[in-house]
Amino acid sequence: MKVQLTNATKKLCVIGDPILHSRSPLIQNAMISALGLDYIYLCQRVPRGETERWLRYADFAGYAGFNATMPHKETLALLMDELDPLASACGAVNTVCIKDGKYYGYNTDGAGFLRALADLGVEAEGKRALLLGAGGAAKAVAAALAGAGAYVTVANRTAEKAVGICEIDSARMAPAGFGREELCRLAEESGILVNCTSLGMEGTGTDFADLGFVDALPAGAAVCDAVYAPAETSLLKRAREKGHPAMNGMGMLLHQAVLALEHFTGRSLDLEKARAAAEGALDGKENDR
Ligand code: NAP
Repeated sequence: MKVQLTNATKKLCVIGDPILHSRSPLIQNAMISALGLDYIYLCQRVPRGETERWLRYADFAGYAGFNATMPHKETLALLMDELDPLASACGAVNTVCIKDGKYYGYNTDGAGFLRALADLGVEAEGKRALLLGAGGAAKAVAAALAGAGAYVTVANRTAEKAVGICEIDSARMAPAGFGREELCRLAEESGILVNCTSLGMEGTGTDFADLGFVDALPAGAAVCDAVYAPAETSLLKRAREKGHPAMNGMGMLLHQAVLALEHFTGRSLDLEKARAAAEGALDGKENDR
């Protein structure tokens, strides 16, 4: 990947702690290079408790914006001059643009998920969605699904966290437990199932003990996993065996990255070109476009 720097090159980065594992610099620099944008995207460790100091520094150092991951998303939502509706709904910011000393916060995770869902040919409006998990990803996906007109049941191992998420929109969201029978009963009436737990994720050593809830889904229900490594989790394998349309978290990851770059640059981007560059970089292929 060629990155040509000039004295006017605009700086972007991802902040978090830990952060060295992040694939955002790889994806973003590949897209920047392919699209011929005069930006560079770096990786910056910012420890917990230092969010506000980082904001002041980023403005002073001339950053055009940055992405944020653990543990900053919720704190950032309290420090923005303006929030987009999804960031406001879920109280978490993963994309910040800095302009004229003001901070603009967005959450592109939920919108990225909706774009990936649309790629799968699935409309959220009017559907019942069963969302597994109540962490950061679940919060963004729940807010996006409800905003798109779905009715979302949030099922989580720790019940209070599911209850907390449903406060975002109690008319369209309801909490549930994570027991086998409850999940099977809820699945029977769901048109969309989304896994936003870390179960099945590479390196965690954990997976669903029982996938009976997949068998309980009605024919044609979409099955989505936020996990993208491995590319096919046991959940997705079972869903495909049963003939359900299914997708892993890669589409969400790529779409949220493109949406963030659109916010940073203030323009709409060639999605296909950006996506091909990001996928090439993730596959370890050099991309010179
Ligand atoms: P998080 O905030 O730490 O939440 C983790 C969730 O997993 C919680 O709901 C937790 O339940 C649940 N969980 C963990 N171990 C469990 C177990 N043994 N049994 C049942 N539930 C369990 O993490 P996150 O940031 O939301 O990320 C969740 C997953 O989404 C990860 O795999 C991450 O890689 C993926 N993700 C993907 C994208 C993308 O763009 N594709 C974006 C963000 C995240 P408790 O509340 O009970 O602990």
